[in-house]
Amino acid sequence: MTKKIGFLGLGHMGAPMAANLVEAGYDVLAFDPVPAAQEQARADGATVVATAAEAAVGRDVVITMLPNGKLVLDVYAELLPAAAPGTLFIDSSTIDVADAKAAAALAVSAGHRPLDAPVSGGVAGATAGTLTFMVGGAEDDFADAAEILNVLGGKVVHCGGAGVGQAAKICNNMLLGISMIGLSEALVLGERLGLSHQSFFDVVSTASGQSWALTSYCPVPGPVPASPANNDYQPGFATALMSKDLTLAANALRANGIDGRLGELAAAIYQQFNQTDTGKDFSAIITAIRDRSE
Ligand code: NAD
Repeated sequence: MTKKIGFLGLGHMGAPMAANLVEAGYDVLAFDPVPAAQEQARADGATVVATAAEAAVGRDVVITMLPNGKLVLDVYAELLPAAAPGTLFIDSSTIDVADAKAAAALAVSAGHRPLDAPVSGGVAGATAGTLTFMVGGAEDDFADAAEILNVLGGKVVHCGGAGVGQAAKICNNMLLGISMIGLSEALVLGERLGLSHQSFFDVVSTASGQSWALTSYCPVPGPVPASPANNDYQPGFATALMSKDLTLAANALRANGIDGRLGELAAAIYQQFNQTDTGKDFSAIITAIRDRSE
């Protein structure tokens, strides 16, 4: 068993992930600049260090769970020279495919073994250790990371080479954003036409318009009792994060010359909603569609 882990980024996702690694018997050196995050990590049994670089010293594996690609690249500039050659670097942040490839190239040229391993499953999945990991990188490095990723996740998929884990993440979330908007427009149209939410659900959940957004995450209260709509749209998956992921997807569409009009539009719709939204779940987009309708 690989024992020594460095963990950077102890936020909503990183804190419970680091705690699960400690719980599973790993020796975790943790770093986050925020004092409250440091305190929580200490309480969870990690050893908190004073700088990012210290979290990489003498580690077999270094995991990052950071807000964006620029930070990942900045932090890698500190971590890579501090780590022993051959250290496995696992970045689980959701970042641009180009940034993921750049981070991987830097790690390789410093003599390390990089994987991009973004997740889905949210804070609940991070806490329960049931995240889905989408992994990009070399086959051997993936095999060496599998034990740790299986502590943190319920499903671990090797998607391809460097950056391809991030590609899977943005493709999935682009589709989810588009389907939530489409579903919400259909629900609001149904409201106008006298179709109750329950009747809509009863028909569409087993018809050809069925989607995960409807059957697991229904954006109106009632049909799916656990969905955020039943709890005044408390996240869940915050609008700000969906907006970020759709922006990454739209950038990738453009960078690769794809005619991705729905992806572009979904990014624009969520960017606009994110400017007015006050921390609501992304399924609250239905309230904006209703408000904008005559
Ligand atoms: P968060 O903002 O709660 O946590 C990020 C943490 O990184 C913060 O505690 C911050 O202080 C820390 N940080 C900033 N600079 C640092 C540095 N130089 N060194 C070490 N730590 C530093 O974000 P989160 O919700 O935990 O999300 C983390 C990543 O996971 C993001 O890329 C996000 O898109 C992705 N993600 C989040 C969710 C979710 O539901 N929250 C789901 C899937 C993926």
